[in-house]
Amino acid sequence: MLALGGNAMTNAEGRAHPEDQIEAAGVAMAAVAELIAHDVEVVITHGNGPQVGNILVKNEMAAAVVPPVPLDWCGAQTQATLGFVLMDALDAAVAERGIEKHSATIVTRALVDPNDPGFVRPTKPIGRFLPAEEAQVLVGHGEVWEDRGAKGWRRVVASPEPLDILDAPAVLRLVDAGFVVVANGGGGIPVVRREDGSLAGVEAVIDKDFGAALLGMLVGADLLVVATDVPNAVLHYGTPEAEPIGRVTLSQMRAYAAEGHFASGSMGPKVDAVCRFVQGTELPAVITSLDRILDAVMNVGSTGTVVVPD
Ligand code: ADP
Ligand code: MG
Repeated sequence: MLALGGNAMTNAEGRAHPEDQIEAAGVAMAAVAELIAHDVEVVITHGNGPQVGNILVKNEMAAAVVPPVPLDWCGAQTQATLGFVLMDALDAAVAERGIEKHSATIVTRALVDPNDPGFVRPTKPIGRFLPAEEAQVLVGHGEVWEDRGAKGWRRVVASPEPLDILDAPAVLRLVDAGFVVVANGGGGIPVVRREDGSLAGVEAVIDKDFGAALLGMLVGADLLVVATDVPNAVLHYGTPEAEPIGRVTLSQMRAYAAEGHFASGSMGPKVDAVCRFVQGTELPAVITSLDRILDAVMNVGSTGTVVVPD
């Protein structure tokens, strides 16, 4: 189970022009093709923050002309588009290596609890910063915006826990049939179950690394790899005492997290996600950079931060 971070889908500055996304996907899928060449079965998930941010801008600017689409629709749209970009890139990368391997993208729903505390107190910032007056207009439409100081105001939404990945059975079937599957992008499209049993999309954003941990468990993955733009999780990050973490037990990693070594909006959820996977499966999980995933998978423990059961 491979979770791709922002650098697999945007340029180094986080810019998400179509050509940036295609180029970054090409680099990421070259790495995945190497895994495939080594007979590794791969399920891929990915982030979608900048892409959803771009759709939200279009929502705001075009609201007088075409109806804005809700956040769950933004999630579905980005899953489909990024899946398409990744599949094209993967096709090219496997063809270059003379391998025959097909891929499929699943528009994937993740079940959340309508009573998740996130819906009462939204915390996840999304989209662009706006001046106070413009933000107030959107507050009038029922959105929650927060004053973020000099940069302006920013929308915040719920970031509920994923309880189940509803389309995981389809992922598993396709993996069994030999496909590389792209699924649960952006953490999954958040849906709640209504009283009558039907599903409804909700305005929320699921953490993509939490989604990856859960999907990894549901499909019976042997290893979770969270690929980002740093080779390791680091103690005392950004200080002269900085120390990369190599192989570490689950309880030691949880102790480091409790000491506050991992920033909440970035490395924190990755560490939490790998710990969840290790706890749930008694298997290892790795945080490392995209360029190291072949080593991380073929020789677990040789590179990156590797969390192992106690
Ligand atoms: P992605 O977009 O790949 O999902 P993020 O950009 O959210 O990931 O998180 C990766 C970033 O986390 C790194 O580039 C680094 O700047 C930051 N970071 C924060 N705390 C740490 C830490 N303790 N160790 C390593 N990186 C950290
Ligand atoms: Mg990032």
